[in-house]
Amino acid sequence: MMAKRDLYEVLGVSKGASDEEIKRAYRKLSKKFHPDINKEAGSEDKFKEVAEAYEVLSNADKRAAYDQYGHASTDPNFGAGGGGGYGGGGFGGGGFGGGGFEDIFESFFGGGRSQNPNAPRQGEDLQYSVNLEFEEAIFGKETTVSYNREEECKTCHGDGAKPGTSPVTCSRCHGTGSLNVERNTPLGRVMTRQTCDVCHGTGKEIKEHCPTCHGSGHTKDKHTVKVTVPAGVEDGNQMRLNGQGEAGKNGGPYGDLYVVFRVKASNQFERNGSEIYYELPINFVQASLGDEVEVPTVHGKVKLKIPAGTQTGTNFRLRGKGAPKLRGSGTGDQHIKIKLVTPKNLSKEQTDLLRQFAKASGMEVEEQDGSIFDKVKDAFKADKKRK
Ligand code: ZN
Ligand code: ZN
Repeated sequence: MMAKRDLYEVLGVSKGASDEEIKRAYRKLSKKFHPDINKEAGSEDKFKEVAEAYEVLSNADKRAAYDQYGHASTDPNFGAGGGGGYGGGGFGGGGFGGGGFEDIFESFFGGGRSQNPNAPRQGEDLQYSVNLEFEEAIFGKETTVSYNREEECKTCHGDGAKPGTSPVTCSRCHGTGSLNVERNTPLGRVMTRQTCDVCHGTGKEIKEHCPTCHGSGHTKDKHTVKVTVPAGVEDGNQMRLNGQGEAGKNGGPYGDLYVVFRVKASNQFERNGSEIYYELPINFVQASLGDEVEVPTVHGKVKLKIPAGTQTGTNFRLRGKGAPKLRGSGTGDQHIKIKLVTPKNLSKEQTDLLRQFAKASGMEVEEQDGSIFDKVKDAFKADKKRK
């Protein structure tokens, strides 16, 4: 017996070939070696070889098994004991199954192959919001999140069958998951494909259901994951945790969990990336004479010298007192903006001193009382009426 050639080699495609490339190669070769077209000796064997290669490589499930186990995976007994192998219905070793011609017609006439219902599929991704205090986002923290998710049933390990039994190939659709149904329409008889009503498209029948999951293969369970919040995250940042989503189908891997960080605003700081902004209120005496004050930062209080003659709106920078940079290294700065606050409700003594100050400065001040804003408003209204 001839040693089996590598299936990719048979089709003349690379190991990483796309489904489309495999299909194209198959169409080309099956035409070339078709016994009705090619009368050369050996063409029929080539034709069979090509069809066999295509049978495996065009099926995601079988292709994955072949990639992993080689020709052993195409043995009809492969996986019979493990429960993890692909379902039956494949072609016998060396023989040319009846499905081959159907495949050719589908390929020649552009009929798309329906996706194999038994192919392993990754589970759904989930999303979870983690609320953080302003400082927690800056310094990071360890936390855990708990949520309900679909997990692989621990009793049946996902196949839905009662322990000691196994799902069998669906007797109605022979494992394809779909049925060809003939319908009478005004245009004549039409063949359509329908999802199999016995197996609901899975291609497998479970004779005795698993008592835990009642055949679904999944159970909804509470799941807890440790989340390490990286220092420097910002509101809306996402983090992906591999395999923490819902269980896959047909032995496929779990989906992922996306953790979205929601960061609470601070009542004294603003933040933009690694930079933190703070507005420092000072009075006109501090601004005029200078002062040394304590300024809050997320790293604790820091002393800041305010030079004499500081104007409102002046900015100071405290290096390294911002948030850590999420990407790259280092820490941002804290920016301080001076806000001059004018004193209100002055005492008699304060008022006298200010008048003295004005005199010493050579200023003439036409003093107004505290309700000045109301007067301005009235004047504004009168002005409008006049127009
Ligand atoms: Zn179960
Ligand atoms: Zn079925």
